Amino acid sequence: MSKLLEVKDLAVSFNTYNGEVQAVRGVSFDLDKGETLAIVGESGSGKSVTTSALMGLVPKPQGVIKSGEILLEGEDLVKKSNKEMQKIRGKDISMVFQNPLSSLNPTMKIGNQIIEGLVKHQNMNRTDAKKRAIELLDQVGIPNPEIRMKQYPHQFSGGMRQRVVIAIALACNPKILIADEPTTALDVTIQAQILELMKDIQKETESAIVFITHDLGVVANVADRVAVMYAGKIVEYGTVDDIFYNPKHPYTWGLLGSMPTLDSDDEELYAIPGSPPDMLNPPKGDAFAPRNKFALEIDGVMEPPMFKVSDSHYAATWLLHEDAPKMEPPESVKKRMQGFANTGGEE
Ligand code: ADP
Ligand code: MG
Repeated sequence: MSKLLEVKDLAVSFNTYNGEVQAVRGVSFDLDKGETLAIVGESGSGKSVTTSALMGLVPKPQGVIKSGEILLEGEDLVKKSNKEMQKIRGKDISMVFQNPLSSLNPTMKIGNQIIEGLVKHQNMNRTDAKKRAIELLDQVGIPNPEIRMKQYPHQFSGGMRQRVVIAIALACNPKILIADEPTTALDVTIQAQILELMKDIQKETESAIVFITHDLGVVANVADRVAVMYAGKIVEYGTVDDIFYNPKHPYTWGLLGSMPTLDSDDEELYAIPGSPPDMLNPPKGDAFAPRNKFALEIDGVMEPPMFKVSDSHYAATWLLHEDAPKMEPPESVKKRMQGFANTGGEE
C-alpha cells in the first residue's frame, strides 16, 4: 500500500468511424515516491494515451477507458468526475507536453501565466504568487527571471519555452510530473540540459516522474525503471540495469540495437523491420511476431504471458518459456549492452 501510483490492467479504446481502435490493451505498472519511470516505445504504441488516462484527459466521447484502475495513493482516478480530476491535475499530477507552444498562451505574459495557476490552484494572493513565479523561473534556470516575467512566449527560444512549461508544471508541487516526449522538438544539447534540469528538480522536490519517449537512448541517464511498450501493451518492465544489461524481449533488443552509439558505424545499426500493427485489428498472438525474426510458432497463435525474470524484471515473450529454444540477442545489441556495462550508462 506504500505505492504512490498503481495502474492495473488499464485498457483504453477509441470508437472511430472505422471501428474500435484498441490503443491501450491491459497496461499495469506502479510508481514509488520520488521515482522516475520511463515509458519507451515506437510512435503509436500507446504511450500518450496511457498518460492522458492518468491525467483524466482521454478525449470524450470517442475515447473510453474500457477497464482498469489508476490508483493514486489508493484512490481510483478512473472513478473521479471531471471536476475532481481538474483539482487533481492542479495539485497532485501535472504534465509537460511535447510541444511547449501548445501549452502556453501566446497572448499572455509568461509571468501572468504562472501567477494565474498559483492564484487559482494554490489559493495564493498575487503578491506571493509573483514571488513564487520568479522563484520557479529561477529554479528552471531562466536568467533574469524578473525581466522574463514581463515577456511573451515568442520572446523565448524553444529550450527556454520548455523550461517555462516545466516551471508551470512544478508550480503546484506535484506528486507526479508526467513528461510526454518533452524534448523531442529540441536539439540534442538542449535536450540534455532539459533532462539534467528535470533530474535536479526531482532531487529538490521529490516528485515522481513518468518520462515518455520513443528514444531508449535518453533513458539510461534519467530513469530508475523502464517500461517498454508495444502495440498497447507493456512487453518488458525492469530497472534500467535489467533493460540495458539483460534485455529479454526481442522488441527491446530492436530498440537497443537501433540506438546509435559513439563508436559504431551506421551500418551496424539493427533496425526493426516493418511497422507497428493497426490497432483497429491487433494481431492474434504476440503482436510483435510479424516483425520478429526470433518469433516461434506459438507467437502466431497465443499471446505470451508476462514471464518473471527476477523480482524486478518481467518480459512478455515466449522465448522465456522453459521449453523455448535458447536465443541470444544479435551481436550489435550485445555490443551495446557491453558498452553500457563499460560506461555505467554515462555514455
Ligand atoms: P504514442 O504516444 O505511443 O506515439 P498514442 O498513445 O498517441 O501513441 O496512440 C496509440 C494509438 O491510439 C495509435 O494507434 C493512435 O492512432 C490511436 N489514437 C490516439 N488518439 C486517438 C484518437 N483521438 N482517436 C483515434 N485513435 C487514436
Ligand atoms: Mg505520443
